[in-house]
Amino acid sequence: MALLQISEPGQSTAPHLHRLAVGIDLGTTNSLVASVRSGIADTLADGEGRHLLPSVVRYLKGADPVVGDVALAAAADDPLNTIASVKRIMGRGIDDVKTLGGTLPYEFAPGESGMPRICTAAGLYSPVEVSAEILRSLKRRAEASLGGDLSGVVITVPAYFDDSQRQATKDAGRLAGLPVLRLLNEPTAAAVAYGLDRKAEGVFAIYDLGGGTFDISILRLNRGVFEVLATAGDSALGGDDMDHAIADWMLRQAGVGVSGDPHGARRALRDARAAKHVLSQSAQAAVCVTRPDGSVWHGTLARAEFDALVNPIIERTVAPCRRVMRDAAITAADISEVVLVGGSTRMPRVRERAATIFCRTPLTDIDPDRVVAIGAAIQADILIGNKPSDEMLLLDVIPLSLGIEIMGGMVEKIIARNSTIPIAKAQDFTTFKDGQTAMAIHVVQGDRELVSDCRSLARFELRGIPPMVAGAGRIRVTFQIDADGLLSVSAQEQTSGAASSVVVKPSYGLSDAEIERMLRDSIVHAREDNDARNLREQQVDADRVVAALESALAADGDALLSAAERLEIEHKLSLLRSVRDGTDVACIRDGIDTLDRATREFAARRMDAGIRKALSGHRLDEFG
Ligand code: ADP
Ligand code: MG
Repeated sequence: MALLQISEPGQSTAPHLHRLAVGIDLGTTNSLVASVRSGIADTLADGEGRHLLPSVVRYLKGADPVVGDVALAAAADDPLNTIASVKRIMGRGIDDVKTLGGTLPYEFAPGESGMPRICTAAGLYSPVEVSAEILRSLKRRAEASLGGDLSGVVITVPAYFDDSQRQATKDAGRLAGLPVLRLLNEPTAAAVAYGLDRKAEGVFAIYDLGGGTFDISILRLNRGVFEVLATAGDSALGGDDMDHAIADWMLRQAGVGVSGDPHGARRALRDARAAKHVLSQSAQAAVCVTRPDGSVWHGTLARAEFDALVNPIIERTVAPCRRVMRDAAITAADISEVVLVGGSTRMPRVRERAATIFCRTPLTDIDPDRVVAIGAAIQADILIGNKPSDEMLLLDVIPLSLGIEIMGGMVEKIIARNSTIPIAKAQDFTTFKDGQTAMAIHVVQGDRELVSDCRSLARFELRGIPPMVAGAGRIRVTFQIDADGLLSVSAQEQTSGAASSVVVKPSYGLSDAEIERMLRDSIVHAREDNDARNLREQQVDADRVVAALESALAADGDALLSAAERLEIEHKLSLLRSVRDGTDVACIRDGIDTLDRATREFAARRMDAGIRKALSGHRLDEFG
């Protein structure tokens, strides 16, 4: 589930002391740390003047792990102990990791509660531990260049990160000994870096193509408040895919099989990436491949060939862009600025494509590699209290609707997809059966009409409902998503006050691919779902009518009906029962109406009898 970030208005009160705060962009490929110094936010360099820290950790037997460029340099020769792209598996279960398959060369072992652990020469490490190693390295760098202990840190995450991915990121921060103030969405950080929050208003598109993830977000600024209108993306799309496409091409050109030589493949990947960077500035790049027999192939990667290799990958960013505009109910003409984020947006082809999708020239003044860390640093500076608090409120949305199961296996949506959070919504439900004293509440996530097509999040029971006739109980179900993206659901019976609740914290959430699939399905199946919903509704109605009539017949049938009348009603009742399980909605509706007409007289007699019973023993003037 998407989260939100809020800078509470008035949180920072009159600072006397400048406290050290940094923003960290914990990237799939590269990580950075930035800080505001003398009013200017910038990224911090290591001892050798490098700003980007490759998000790579190498584990060595009997020695401390190595992080960054040194680890990256060893990746080709020691792939199993050199962990890259760990962000892809943050907060994921072992099963998810298996399905990510081919992209990750490591060996996994199951750890606690389904969390995968990576097998290295130095032992088993969880993704959280690997990320903590990267964060520790940035912490050391920040403390060395700022000259003191850090008081507050803001770490960025992709907008699409779900609850458990965010939790895992926070855990990594804690493990690294960082005082994490909060997590911030990467696109929001980018908008803050450009100072878009200081404009009066506007709608902005943040296009972030990095090494491993693509994120597209539509933000709206309204009276100083940022709202994320919608987000979309692909957690398995980025520069890495281009590197693979180019490396495969190089190996093919050199007549070397792609499989069989993992070291050679790794080297080719490194060279492919270097060639790609050259092609962001030049028309061609020299490439070479050392074959297993030691001979070397030399070649040239020209612009046309390069474009043919990377275009299909760039094109995959188009559909999420279209969808995000649809979800935000805007067109390209409504967008006032487009911000480019991520190293891959250095490519001229990507810039062109982003410009044509949104019909305007994107902002590129701030280094797309550093823009997220810079925004995070600005946010950290505000949160720690070094700056008078702007009333900056950064909202976010939930990616899939949330609701509960109702009769007939249908879903009643309570919070709609793309609602901004925090949010609270309540809806009243009623009891279905006479004398019902408990109600099972099943919380689901998804946009299909039937529970079986959605994801089950939690179940709990409300007990202690006073016995009442069907339909008389009033149960208020409240959904609340707090600032940390946690969903709590509570149910309360309104007359007795009986209450029950649950806090939903999925052990691990949905992947982007699953969210995509669920959304696609909900569109494809909309009509079918609607028909199914109508049918279920009629069936539920029929069941209710049948159950009510059966209990009425049992109670008063003998006393209030003649044998012929009773036979007639029972005939209509069996007619309804026989059409109940069919698929003809009109037929069931007809059956209900016919039965309703046939029992009207019976219902009237029962009412009279009830009133007589209530009045017996009382004098009429008591009621006057
Ligand atoms: P992430 O957010 O995934 O950590 P980054 O924003 O650091 O990623 O982007 C890393 C990606 O950007 C890598 O795939 C890298 O090859 C690519 N990249 C960096 N500089 C350039 C460039 N000049 N031309 C093309 N791609 C680049
Ligand atoms: Mg990034």
